[in-house]
Amino acid sequence: MKTLVAFKSDIGRVREGNEDSVLIHHPLFAVADGMGGHVAGDVASQTAIETITEGVAEGRGLEPDDLEELIKAANLAIWDKAQSDSTLHGMGTTCTLILVDDSRVHIGHVGDSRAYLFRSGELTQLTEDHTLVGRMVKEGRLQPEEAERHPQRNIITRTLGVDPNVQVDNEVVTIGEGDRILICSDGLTSMLDSGTITSVLTTESDPQAAVDRLVDEANAAGGEDNVTVVIVEFQPGDDTAGKSVV
Ligand code: MN
Repeated sequence: MKTLVAFKSDIGRVREGNEDSVLIHHPLFAVADGMGGHVAGDVASQTAIETITEGVAEGRGLEPDDLEELIKAANLAIWDKAQSDSTLHGMGTTCTLILVDDSRVHIGHVGDSRAYLFRSGELTQLTEDHTLVGRMVKEGRLQPEEAERHPQRNIITRTLGVDPNVQVDNEVVTIGEGDRILICSDGLTSMLDSGTITSVLTTESDPQAAVDRLVDEANAAGGEDNVTVVIVEFQPGDDTAGKSVV
């Protein structure tokens, strides 16, 4: 299959800086959403992406198991930086990393950024939110619709960089022609409900147009956070040397 890739990272309408970082490095794609005062969040998410990029630059083939190793290396790199610089103390980041491997997509994930599968007009969340409300939904104490509006929906329970050890979620999904994988920071999902995201993905057949519209809609809904969106679309044909169209 051939992959078409589109992305955008936007500051939003309220924040003073963009602490999200994005990785477009075929066959690896990721979104990291940093947190921590001042520049720390930015440093955290950038360190995650840089560490992952360095980890794959060694010229070896990537295996699905590598995702967890790459994320753990990113975690340690952020932790180390935070220990050696008091202005960066306590910084952290989410990381949702996917590896496209023929007809499979492998996911490594920590935090409340998300990966979705969009197939035949239907949107399915592939990752679990590591948040207080995410846990309550999992335990059946809260409906997903209630979670979308819950006042404490931003409380995150697992991030990279705050502890030398981190537990990484791993998922794998089989994909087919016409499928799209959406990766996004919570600046999208806290502003738009899944129905709105689904309708944009259904309406916009061009991946970049879909990305741009999702960001526009998040900003129109308030743009309270940085918003980052990546779409990887699978089309018939050969993935010539895995080149992505950006
Ligand atoms: Mn965010």
